[in-house]
Amino acid sequence: MKYCDLHIHSVASDGTFTPEQIVERARIFGLSAIAIADHDSIDSVAQARSCAREFGIDFIDAVELSTSTLEGRLHILGYFIDPFYPPLVELLKKLFISRRVRIEEMCKNLTALGFQSTIEEIEKISNGAAIGRPHLAEHLINIRAVRDIHEAFEKYLSWGRPAYVKKWAPLPAESIAIIHDAGGLAVVAHPGVTPHMMERLPELIEMGADGIEAYYPRHTQEDQQKAIEIAKKHNLLITGGSDCHGTRRGEPLLGIFKVRYELFEKLRDRWSERKAKSA
Ligand code: AMP
Ligand code: FE
Ligand code: FE
Ligand code: ZN
Repeated sequence: MKYCDLHIHSVASDGTFTPEQIVERARIFGLSAIAIADHDSIDSVAQARSCAREFGIDFIDAVELSTSTLEGRLHILGYFIDPFYPPLVELLKKLFISRRVRIEEMCKNLTALGFQSTIEEIEKISNGAAIGRPHLAEHLINIRAVRDIHEAFEKYLSWGRPAYVKKWAPLPAESIAIIHDAGGLAVVAHPGVTPHMMERLPELIEMGADGIEAYYPRHTQEDQQKAIEIAKKHNLLITGGSDCHGTRRGEPLLGIFKVRYELFEKLRDRWSERKAKSA
């Protein structure tokens, strides 16, 4: 049986593994295909692709785009995107800035709460990556304001908690269109963990979503089943992955949570068909 993992984070966003470490671990665990899908960044893609090639592991250039809806955040995965497509590069630049502005505001809130935090300190932690709340959580752990990342989100960083600030992100329809224009396939990430997203899947399909991430560590059996049913009904792709963030949330899931290689093959085939049609 061959396996793959289509959703992995690296140091280019809020993961702790470098591209080399990801490929090395994928090799040790015998994965046949992987996709690094960092939040709003493609900075690890080139390095990971060349490492994966050395080991004969299939690799997909991917990204996990932040979008905002009335109900809150929604992540859209882009597979087989051209990482040099200028409008995509432009969007990633905008998101890099909106992430920084937002974290700077959250630092002010934390400081007002008595936890001295500056954007410069958090940027030392993120080290050039697309900055995010997990980096802020690491700072709170360092200054002993909290014991772990879960406490950091629960007490201060989650929606509705005292340090929370919303970040700018495009609408799902805009992100789906950019992924398509960049030659990629758009997949709705983990609909089961985003409130109300299961019910909104028909709208996202209307917007052109090509697939649904059904296999996901934090999906219930019911979430998984529902996502598969909807995907089948609309002839959409079914994908899955570990959403591994390295060691940030405890034991790394890369190599532990994996999906059938066939899901990679179907994704690749759909992309080839799409390319042939548009050529
Ligand atoms: P951001 O993109 O800056 O809004 O941060 C979102 C990221 O924070 C997600 O991709 C997760 O990696 C992480 N995250 C969100 N909620 C939690 C939580 N309750 N516990 C741990 N990590 C979380
Ligand atoms: Fe994350
Ligand atoms: Fe996500
Ligand atoms: Zn993710």
